[in-house]
This record gives sequence, C-alpha cells and structure tokens, in this order.
Amino acid sequence: MMVIMREGATAEQIDHVVARIQEVGADAYVSQGERVTIVGAIGDREELTALPIEACAGVDRVVAILKPYKLVSREFRPADTVIDVRGSKVGGGHFALIAGPCSVETPDQVLAAAVAAKEAGATMMRGGAFKPRTSPYTFQGLGREGLELLAAAREQTGLPVVTELMDPRDLDVVHEFADVIQIGARNMQNFQLLSEVGKAGKPVLLKRGQSATVEELLMAAEYVVKEGNRDVILCERGIRTFEPSTRNTLDISAVPVIKLASHLPVIVDPSHSAGRLDLVLPLSLAAVAAGADGVIVEMHPNPELALCDGPQSLPSAAFGEYAGRVSELVKFTGKTLS
Ligand code: PEP
Ligand code: MN
Repeated sequence: MMVIMREGATAEQIDHVVARIQEVGADAYVSQGERVTIVGAIGDREELTALPIEACAGVDRVVAILKPYKLVSREFRPADTVIDVRGSKVGGGHFALIAGPCSVETPDQVLAAAVAAKEAGATMMRGGAFKPRTSPYTFQGLGREGLELLAAAREQTGLPVVTELMDPRDLDVVHEFADVIQIGARNMQNFQLLSEVGKAGKPVLLKRGQSATVEELLMAAEYVVKEGNRDVILCERGIRTFEPSTRNTLDISAVPVIKLASHLPVIVDPSHSAGRLDLVLPLSLAAVAAGADGVIVEMHPNPELALCDGPQSLPSAAFGEYAGRVSELVKFTGKTLS
C-alpha cells in the first residue's frame, strides 16, 4: 500500500510512518516527490491494513496499489525517473543514444566503434564481453579482456559503458568496468541475478524477454528496485511472434504502455528487434515517435567481419547519418540528447 503524506509533512512524521511500517516486519520505501512524499509499504497485507497509519500525524491518506508491481509503478512515483550515468542522463526528457558492437572483439574494433559513436553524438557506448549465444560453438565473448577494452575506449572517448552480465559469479568484474549493467532478454527472469544487481547499486539496463509480457518485465524490474536500486532502464527489444520477416517483432506499443504504467525510462533496441540493417533507422524513428527515452543500436567498423550479429549492425561509417536523422526527430519531440 501507499501512504500519501500531506504537503509539508516533516521529516520526523515521515520517519515515524516508516518506523510503524517496519514494526510489523514490512519494508518501507520513501519516494520524495516535488510536493508530496509517498511511503510505499510492502509486506503482509493483513498486518499492514490493521495498522492505523491514517491516524499518524502528517498522513493525508492510505491507498492500495492494485498492480502486482509496486515500486516501479507510476502510482508510487508519478514523476519520470531520470538516471544519471556519469553525467549522461536518461528519462524525463533526456534521450540516450547508445551505440557499439554486439560483442567486443579487438582493441581496434571497439575503439573505432566508440570514436564513431562519440563523433556522431552518441551518449553512451555498448559492447558485450559476456555473450548469450544460442549455440555453444559460437564466439562467447572475451570476458574480462573485453571489459578492459571497453574501459580503454571509455578513457579515449568519455562515453559511459553499457555491458552485459549473465552470471552472478561475474558480478564483481562487470561491476568494476561497467557504467550500466545490462541484463539480457534471456536472463530477464533470472531472479537471483536481478536481486544481485539490485544490491550492487549500479544502473541496470533490463531487456524484455523474448516471450515476456510487459507485466512480467515490470515484475522483473521490481526485483531490482526492491533491493534498493532505483536506477533501472527498461528495454523493448522485440518479441517472438508468428511473423517470419523479422528476427523478432518490435512491440512498439509496449513503449507507451510501459511509460503509462511505470516511471522508469524505456528505450528500444531496433537491432535485435528486427535483425535487419534496413529496418534499424525506421524502427529507431518509430521508437522516438512512440515516446522512447533512448535507443541502443549495434554498430561495427566492419559488419562483414563481425563475430556476432553483423547483418543487423550499422557500419560505423554510416552511423553519423543515422544519428543525425534520429537526433532531428528527438529534438522535434522536445527531448534532448544528453
Ligand atoms: C545484446 O544486446 O547484446 C543482446 C544479446 O540482446 P538481447 O538480450 O536483447 O537478445
Ligand atoms: Mn547482438
């Protein structure tokens, strides 16, 4: 349930409400809005409803959150969450343009991609060091060495690094190098992994599972936020349907659906959505028009030689033109690339 404090409620009054909630073994989460503070209480429903919280000083009213997700819901936090990644912002009018190779392969490859991203105005770079591959016989990523190459590219360009974590055993090393920890589609419901990145306290990019509903995605995000990490970026990356002309089907309506239901930023991955280079720009423009807070796109200096996802990767040489088209529309929608 949510305890909505009166405008001007004091810190002592808020602390008292938190203490009363904790007394019955429930968790209290404080959301400080511009005018009012909301205290979310999560725990045994019967114990909580028996608490006479409405009688506490400074409390305006108590309402139930009917949705199964609580902390990520717009009800709990009406204003957009803005996530700051080394000064680069996502959400609340800030649009993230994240670009880079599917996987980190060589020092030259990752640096060339990062420089092209930076020159074209990208706000972050991506690159996988731990790769979730369908086949165990294909390139699995460079692991720690790949993370070091990403860090070197960050050093050169200043771009924050988004990279995937697949296994809680690699959390320490990924945490050491990443600015945003990506949880891939295949791990969206790896609940232990979600709790671990929740505790780690670094911004998380959570990708929607190939067969997951929007509600399941929000429940997955709830696992992270529940551990105290509010910095979760959600990513629509296409879902499995009966349509064979694309690798996945971009569920563009998920963008406004999620934004209505949640305060978390939502970005789109047009590369894995379609699996086709010729659809990357139109799907990116659709994402911007639908209200997305960013795009994460695969780009490679030489897609022909890519060890992973070459056919859907933008060549670095074409990235400037792509970024120009996307940023024009971003500006038109009143958002800033930052
Ligand atoms: C990726 O972004 O590198 C990736 C593997 O994407 P997804 O988890 O969406 O398939
Ligand atoms: Mn890929």
